[in-house]
Amino acid sequence: MGKLDGKVALISGAARGQGEAEARLFVAEGAKVVLGDVLDDLGKAVAESLGENAVYQHLDVSREEEWSSFVATAIESFGKVNVLVNNAGILLARRLVDTSLDDFMRVIGINQVGCFLGIKSVVAAMEQAGGGSIVNISSIGGLTGVNSAVAYVSSKFGVTGITKTAALELGPLGIRVNSVHPGGVDTPMITSDTEGFEAEMGSDVQGQSPFANLPLGRVGQPDEIAQLVAFLASDESSYCTGSEFTADGGMRAGT
Ligand code: NAD
Repeated sequence: MGKLDGKVALISGAARGQGEAEARLFVAEGAKVVLGDVLDDLGKAVAESLGENAVYQHLDVSREEEWSSFVATAIESFGKVNVLVNNAGILLARRLVDTSLDDFMRVIGINQVGCFLGIKSVVAAMEQAGGGSIVNISSIGGLTGVNSAVAYVSSKFGVTGITKTAALELGPLGIRVNSVHPGGVDTPMITSDTEGFEAEMGSDVQGQSPFANLPLGRVGQPDEIAQLVAFLASDESSYCTGSEFTADGGMRAGT
């Protein structure tokens, strides 16, 4: 028995990193998963490795029409939608005065608008399925400021707010909505993919890894976030909605 037996889940940004870990864990826990991303080769390979319980479809979360066909693929492939994980995101490591309006809007368009569109796109299908669970991946940067990340932090605070409003409106339909706030997680976002990350955010004033001084003294691993997401996706969290769940190695506990 898996904790997600019988559920159909949509995961955005599932070609690598945390989204990939969530897709792998969800299938292991009994779910059927539709993976979406803009990295098509990687995403297809992940879905193929998961066998008949997973399909991949191209999804740019900032485009409303792509969400429509993403949801349609889930219905065609697996008959219903029970879970949405709004996981796709980008980080821009740039100081406020160096952030252009285009930079700012690009991050908002993916991280915040993408989350809004994802929720909007699944409500009818979830209602038809008798309810569901939506998990929005925000960040510690959706609860507190982060140096050199003004666009990212704005977008992730936006995700926190969308989560609470959606929880109020969708609770009566049996749809729960929660946000997950990871600290640092060992994925390409903070290791190789974000231009300027090392220079702007990669070390503290002593030149150490920013994670060395955390209570748990290390960066998180994608599966450690996926376990929390699976809990929120499952019926084990049946009384949780509109809430913030952190997995941050103690980052917000204090100094
Ligand atoms: P990642 O860069 O490995 O994964 C992000 C995925 O989103 C990639 O596969 C990427 O191709 C995809 N993506 C980007 N733009 C997209 C778009 N327009 N449409 C669809 N997919 C798109 O990083 P990750 O750490 O796995 O990030 C997952 C989530 O966790 C993100 O929302 C991120 O902001 C959040 N997060 C990450 C950290 C961290 O330290 N890594 C910390 C807090 C929150």
